[in-house]
Amino acid sequence: MYIHTYITGHGKLRSYLHRFGLIDNPKCLCEEEEETMNHLIFHYKILHNQRNEMIKQIKNTCDNWPTTNETLVNDYLPIFSKFVKSIDFQTCSDTLL
Ligand SMILES: [Zn+2]
Repeated sequence: MYIHTYITGHGKLRSYLHRFGLIDNPKCLCEEEEETMNHLIFHYKILHNQRNEMIKQIKNTCDNWPTTNETLVNDYLPIFSKFVKSIDFQTCSDTLL
């Protein structure tokens, strides 16, 4: 449930908060693009180490990277879950609050 919330771009993501008019800027702290789940999973630099760890574990099971959100949730939930839990949304979405 928790994972799916983030996968679908809901939760505390800035792109989501922006869609509902709660904040002015949907961009991630890195300013490269909107803060979406895809951005955090595949591009966000600050998660580099956690991402590498996840990629290593996925490659160990003979699958390819990059993969899709669906594959992550369906086939690698324990690994992916660990990655998502490592995301500090408080810092990431340094919001207006
Ligand atoms: Zn970013």
